[in-house]
Amino acid sequence: MSGFKLIKNCDVLTPLRVIRNGSILIQDESIQRVGQFGDSGIPPGTRVFNFRNKLAVPGFIDIHLHGAEGIEFTDSSPESIVTALKTHLRNGTTSLLPSLMTASHEQVLNTIKIFLDIEKDIPDIPEIIGINLEGPYISKEKRGVQRTQFIRRPSLTEMKEYIRVSKGSIKIVTVAPEIEGISDFIRFLTEQDIIPSAGHTNADFEQTQKAIESGVMLATHLFNAMRGIAHREPGAAGALLLNDEVYAEVVADGIHLHPSILSLIAKAKPLEKIILVTDATKFYGIRKGASYSKEGKLFGSNTELGLALKHMTQFTGIPFERIVRTVTINPAKLLKIENKKGLLKRGNDADIVILDKELNIKDIFVKGKRFSPSGNIFSSA
Ligand SMILES: [Zn+2]
Repeated sequence: MSGFKLIKNCDVLTPLRVIRNGSILIQDESIQRVGQFGDSGIPPGTRVFNFRNKLAVPGFIDIHLHGAEGIEFTDSSPESIVTALKTHLRNGTTSLLPSLMTASHEQVLNTIKIFLDIEKDIPDIPEIIGINLEGPYISKEKRGVQRTQFIRRPSLTEMKEYIRVSKGSIKIVTVAPEIEGISDFIRFLTEQDIIPSAGHTNADFEQTQKAIESGVMLATHLFNAMRGIAHREPGAAGALLLNDEVYAEVVADGIHLHPSILSLIAKAKPLEKIILVTDATKFYGIRKGASYSKEGKLFGSNTELGLALKHMTQFTGIPFERIVRTVTINPAKLLKIENKKGLLKRGNDADIVILDKELNIKDIFVKGKRFSPSGNIFSSA
């Protein structure tokens, strides 16, 4: 059988442009052609998928998630992590950065090693495009549900070991800007091509601005677990929201942020810099809505990116055609992988999500392989 597949008759959101009644030709793992070409010139033996009245968008990229299906990544086995990852794929996430919570030195090392052990060629899972460390160099006051006993001062020695053991796969590290000596640490991360993200922080406006000047490029779930905006002290949230260069992770489950705050973010932040994340907990795929700790503290969300996109459209009034970039090209640009992911163009990986007009996921292609999002059964084709 030829390795060609043709997706046709759908509106293609690349998402930099909209192609009405467009087609995508896939060859093996990558995109060959995108445009309005129908059947013309397609190679013999091509499998044709007629997606009339549907939308084709790039596969979603989730840069912040901790688990699913009762499984929390830290300290889990490769097999159980794979189970969790499958659930994310079923919801349209075709590539992701697993995030590790604040843990002991050994636990972090161990989990990094487990992720490296997950075989690249396991079918039916999203591509793991790196690792996100949410701590341990954060604020105790704004730790959320992260464990106090493992929060520590930034250590270059420790960080260098993580980088070495991860074989360079650490892409994002969350730090609190108020920690003494953080500027040098942020500069070190930048030199290593790791994205310093400000979060779990009680930093004030000035401290956060200083961290941005040192190299902070991202806000870890903007507004959540950070000092908020007050009219005489705009706080960490104010500094991160106001700077047009800084990307902002946003948990758009309708619980972590009031709908009006989503609207405020969309008004203040260039759309190119907003990245929706799930911050998925082990309850993702089991329960709907947010998760709460035993003490009643709100933590990560169980809302899939498709629903988060719907919320953003609903609460901000920005059309879906534009909002979809917040889970595709935006995270791809942050990670500098837009020539591989997040954009439907020739040569990129054939990671594609097909949605109906109500924005329900109907089909998923990961590197050209097709999966059914329905139920737990994955029909590879
Ligand atoms: Zn998180």
